[in-house]
Amino acid sequence: MRFEEYAAEWKAGQRDLGPASLVHLESLLAINRLPLLGGRRMNTFDHKVVEDFIQTMERNGVGLAAQSNAVDNLKAILLDAHRLGLFDDNPATGLKPPPYDPKRVVIPSPEQLRHIGTAGDDSSPLVADLMSGCGMRNGEAFAVNVNNIVADDVYRISRDPHRLDRQPRQAHNDWRPTRGCAVDPDLVMPRPQAGLTLGNMNTTDMSPSDSSNPHGAPDADVLVIGAGPTGLLLAGDLAKSGVKVALLERRDHESDLSRAFSLHARTLEQLDARGLADGLLHIGTPTRALHPFGRLSIDFSRLRTRFPFILTIPQWQVERALLRRTEEAGATILRGTLVTGLRQDRDGVDVDVRRPDGTMAALRARYVVGTDGAGSTVRQSLGMPFPGKSAIRSVMLADVLLDRAPDDIFKFSSNEEGFTFFAPFGDGWYRIVAWDRREQVPDDAPITLEDVRDITERTIGSDLGMHDPRWLSRFHSDERQVPHYRQGRVFLAGDAAHVHSPAGGMGMNTGIQDAANLGWKLAAVLRGWAGDALLDSYHAERHPVGRTVLRVSHALLTAVTTGSPLIRALRAALATAVHQSVVVEARASRGISGIGITYRAPRGSHPLVGRRVPDLRLAEEPARLYEALREGKFVLVGRDVAAVATPWAGRVVTVSPAAGLRPTLLVRPDGYAAWAAEDPDPDEVRDALTRWLGSVDRQGA
Ligand SMILES: Cc1cc2nc3c(=O)[nH]c(=O)nc-3n(C[C@H](O)[C@H](O)[C@H](O)COP(=O)(O)OP(=O)(O)OC[C@H]3O[C@@H](n4cnc5c(N)ncnc54)[C@H](O)[C@@H]3O)c2cc1C
Repeated sequence: MRFEEYAAEWKAGQRDLGPASLVHLESLLAINRLPLLGGRRMNTFDHKVVEDFIQTMERNGVGLAAQSNAVDNLKAILLDAHRLGLFDDNPATGLKPPPYDPKRVVIPSPEQLRHIGTAGDDSSPLVADLMSGCGMRNGEAFAVNVNNIVADDVYRISRDPHRLDRQPRQAHNDWRPTRGCAVDPDLVMPRPQAGLTLGNMNTTDMSPSDSSNPHGAPDADVLVIGAGPTGLLLAGDLAKSGVKVALLERRDHESDLSRAFSLHARTLEQLDARGLADGLLHIGTPTRALHPFGRLSIDFSRLRTRFPFILTIPQWQVERALLRRTEEAGATILRGTLVTGLRQDRDGVDVDVRRPDGTMAALRARYVVGTDGAGSTVRQSLGMPFPGKSAIRSVMLADVLLDRAPDDIFKFSSNEEGFTFFAPFGDGWYRIVAWDRREQVPDDAPITLEDVRDITERTIGSDLGMHDPRWLSRFHSDERQVPHYRQGRVFLAGDAAHVHSPAGGMGMNTGIQDAANLGWKLAAVLRGWAGDALLDSYHAERHPVGRTVLRVSHALLTAVTTGSPLIRALRAALATAVHQSVVVEARASRGISGIGITYRAPRGSHPLVGRRVPDLRLAEEPARLYEALREGKFVLVGRDVAAVATPWAGRVVTVSPAAGLRPTLLVRPDGYAAWAAEDPDPDEVRDALTRWLGSVDRQGA
């Protein structure tokens, strides 16, 4: 087989790439690799062929960014072929990549461009190189980031332009001429100015760039990219803690479509700790047990929580409640603002955005969190892999009215034909998720109510009188997780970090809990109460949770989609065994609900450290622990601890347990035990507070 044919097959398998990335991939293949390698037989690739390929690109003047991209893709194709056994040794192993350094791309401020525009003629040592039609080296990185399309209005600057402002004379020597292209200052991408309207909000609270800082003063402490449930909760938490946060969202309106429809117990506890759960309970429908197949039942009613059930509620209702809180807390929300790429340095992160009016800008922050969903631009800009595989394709989704209610709240049926799942929204509408083994088509294939009716009849024997669909669509699911939730100053959370099928209804829930874990840590570091290591604990704690969620979701999906009679028989036997095993059932309900999540504690810690703290009754108002957590602070639960904690008063709430609780507990803002001790003396309590909340003087925090 020739490289051209193999590459075409490989490309067809890259189903997780968005349309823009596919266009980019195609152009890379067409421009460099196919002309140079297309006719070569796959079994003739060796290390030298790959080296020659890079050298030929260099001789042809191909930019380093394009070289780097081409080599990365070639390596991916060769690795794929190696895994399939086309060669014994991977020809790309040990390859020295092209010396491309994205950090050297600098986008100058308007003021600097004015200097550049008046700085001299072509022979001036101060040269800005207009990207389009001129420079094809480092500037490409930014161009590629703009929706993966080489934009016309991108400048390439080969040295730090900020030196111009600080040392004008020196600057002339600091700039190396490249090629003599005139710079048109009108084409510059300005940084946002104070008072500039980026979305539906005015950004007067975002400061303009500060030329005394080599990279400009941050516009925000944290930029959160993507206003889904994960980003909304995180931005709300940060704003509530006094952090200057901006939430950037490409949509210019709130979503009224709902993917998720269930909240689990641990998420409800997190929402309770933010004063939101009771409002959602009024809207949603609680369900105490799931019956996924056979006699298997997963019973949530025995969980020791205020919320021993699954709450069926549309995702948009959850997002609306979170949005209100985020706005009230004072976060800046920029709608219609598409993030196209980012670069980080030692002190901060520059985020490139396309504003609602189509113009480009860059915002700077000390930290960035990508909560921009499965196709995350943030993740792609970091060059972070998203390893995994396709889990299920051609799943149908329909929101319909029914003449007859199903005989179970969550009605699930599967057989060798496929499966159907019904969930009530509580307002008369039902969500149907259905999969027809015989009908495997692309996501964009047309779908009718007849398709859904047909598979429903074949799995449960009736269509329950479905009619008036308000939403019909197809989707596919992958199972993927990033290897690291943090890269320098950039974090990933929610679907940007992990995706899996809707089986178990855990995606939104896991994202919300990622956010609850990260928010207080970022706030503590930004306020100087904690060191950088606390931020590493976000990956250490949440990555294993994500891995488990993928495993559980995979197991549930495999159990219901398998066509193998043997596995179906095993499944039936397993369901009976699980049904009879209280221990297994309890594990399943604790796993899916999130109530069983525990974080690793340092050696020798009290056994409660790292565990979820239940909603303890307290001696005085607030009456419950999760009410005390609503201030977004640590909570110290113990008798006679208030005086010891006084110096940390701005950082911790002290409460007394109603009765029965022996150990003194320091509870993190996300409801997990940071520290615990039996009858500690005041110095031990002080040590724990200093470790978790930083040093304070005796006067107060
Ligand atoms: C059919 C179906 C059913 C599901 N059911 C459940 C369920 O019952 N329970 C459950 O917990 N989960 C469920 N899920 C999963 C759940 O919907 C997702 O896990 C959840 O939406 C993830 O939230 P998020 O905030 O991380 O990402 P998203 O909800 O995807 O939000 C990302 C946001 O980022 C924005 N964005 C993206 N790119 C950019 C950019 N470049 N610049 C600016 N903004 C950007 C998007 O517009 C979007 O608003 C289901 C999913 C599907 C498909």
